[in-house]
Amino acid sequence: CGIVGVVGSKNTRDILMQGLEKLEYRGYDSAGIYVTDPTQDGKLIKSVGRIADLREKIGIDVAGTAGIGHTRWATHGKPSEKNAHPHTSSDARFVLVHNGVIENYLEIKNDYLANDSFNGETDTEIAVHLIAALVKNEGLSAFDAFQKALTIIKGSYAFALMDRTEPDVIYVAKNKSPLLIGLGDGYNMVCSDAMAMIRETSEFMEIHDKELVVLTKDLVEIHDAAGQSVSRDSYTAELDL
Ligand code: GLU
Repeated sequence: CGIVGVVGSKNTRDILMQGLEKLEYRGYDSAGIYVTDPTQDGKLIKSVGRIADLREKIGIDVAGTAGIGHTRWATHGKPSEKNAHPHTSSDARFVLVHNGVIENYLEIKNDYLANDSFNGETDTEIAVHLIAALVKNEGLSAFDAFQKALTIIKGSYAFALMDRTEPDVIYVAKNKSPLLIGLGDGYNMVCSDAMAMIRETSEFMEIHDKELVVLTKDLVEIHDAAGQSVSRDSYTAELDL
């Protein structure tokens, strides 16, 4: 399973699909991508089976400058198109991909989402509904809602979150699941594995557990669990293609 995201590139669709192909070795049962577009609705495409099956469903009209992709190794909910990521909130504003396991997802469902209905059976869908509920019920910004959600969620995760009202931002967080930033010239990336980004960049930045990262085409803002901003050097890695 794996995650890839990019913001600020005209080649978003191809970067996501090549990234997912590079992540295939990690194992998966289904895959999906979300790519922004000028209408702000974006395109969300998912498929069970191979990345090649997903590729067949993706038209040339998928041509935005930011997006996220996912290969799923099902832990909660059978492999199916409904359970494939990205998952969205009921109002469709938030789009989330996740690797890992949210241990307290049933508790979160009972405590915060008693009136919500869900498309599938994944723990991940609970997380994206939680973020939307915190925005709606507590008037929080996307950043604050994500930060609060991270204090509620227990378990392992690599998350990449998009807000349809801010199509040039990707929110990122990890805990006990791999995820790192790739820095490009005029674009930035996030991925489970540096090897899946080396076609685009050789400059990387680590993310530590429980940090929240705001990624735009030319900024990487890291915040620790207490909300303080963190500065971190990037490093250059010479990896062979
Ligand atoms: N627990 C999530 C699910 O079953 C994510 C699985 C993964 O790591 O791919 O959908």
